[in-house]
Amino acid sequence: MASDKNQASSTNPEKLTAASAQSGKTKPEDAASRQPGQPQIQHEPKPPFPKQKLQPPGIEADLQPRPQYLAPNYKAAGKLEEKTALITGGDSGIGRAVAVLYAREGADVAINYLPQEQRDAEETKQVVESCGRRCLLLPGDLTDAKFCKELVERTVRELGKLDILVSNAAHQNRKESLDEVSDEEFDTTFKTNIYAYFRLAKAAIPHMKAGSAIIATSSETGLMGNKMLPDYSATKGAINAFTKALAQSLVKKGIRVNAVAPGPVWTPLNPQDLGHTPDKVAEFGKDTPIGRPAQPEEIAPAYVFLASDADSSYITGIVLNEMGGETTAG
Ligand code: NAD
Ligand code: MG
Repeated sequence: MASDKNQASSTNPEKLTAASAQSGKTKPEDAASRQPGQPQIQHEPKPPFPKQKLQPPGIEADLQPRPQYLAPNYKAAGKLEEKTALITGGDSGIGRAVAVLYAREGADVAINYLPQEQRDAEETKQVVESCGRRCLLLPGDLTDAKFCKELVERTVRELGKLDILVSNAAHQNRKESLDEVSDEEFDTTFKTNIYAYFRLAKAAIPHMKAGSAIIATSSETGLMGNKMLPDYSATKGAINAFTKALAQSLVKKGIRVNAVAPGPVWTPLNPQDLGHTPDKVAEFGKDTPIGRPAQPEEIAPAYVFLASDADSSYITGIVLNEMGGETTAG
């Protein structure tokens, strides 16, 4: 699709919503219930939420309330014009909100997800395209080494280049004790969360030029640990260390590497977690100082900041915390 630079930077999220709704396929307008202009810190959804469970891998369209990802208070400024980005887990949650903000900032995006998530991916594509940008849908399993390489190659082939890699997909299941962590589960968590990051970065770097950026999604569990998430927390710690190592090795090439570490975020990840009960889902995020989980639209602007050369050209090798007032994580 032809791109209109001005359209991307001046996109009005209300128009975006209306344009998306007209297709009648999905209803992203459900995700924009808050009025533009209201302070997000006080007007995002708070627990208790409906008691609910989602079947893995979790379809966002089935989650109540719908996660907020259209960011009506956010003002785009053409920060990512002429850029292309590959975002794993871009169908839903944080990845979807990042895809939408990148498109509003002028970037074309490729998103990866599991084939069962096609419905969510189509909604992301619809909103990205309503910003006048291209959205390439690339379903496939990131635990497959060959697929990680193909994913990068297809993005470069079909979008022409790759400037931003967002390694964001994750596998997560809570367990009561270490006895419940099978070798197979440990392997799946590591293959999805950290092996894929390593493999995608390795495939992407030869295509990247000075000014490019790699951004990984970490978690507060990678800094503080979580007794119910030993395997997942370990992958997030590994993501932080790998990010710092890669930042050091790529700084001379002008490629920056950073991670974002969110606290609890209202996405399908926790409602689909096999060890998370409907009662816990209803209370999700209540124990943070802010008293609620983040919405994806509150997390995504950090990914614009870290991708934008004009905003963060002197920043590489950081883990940026977005934790709702949690200050004990280093
Ligand atoms: P999400 O469920 O919307 O996104 C996770 C995505 O991972 C899924 O959409 C799926 O497409 C992808 N995925 C999982 N296994 C895959 C596989 N084998 N191959 C390809 N894709 C696969 O949830 P989210 O919360 O937006 O998660 C995004 C990131 O945020 C993850 O790295 C997660 O660890 C991190 N995070 C989430 C929270 C939270 O509370 N939701 C908190 C801290 C960090
Ligand atoms: Mg998903």
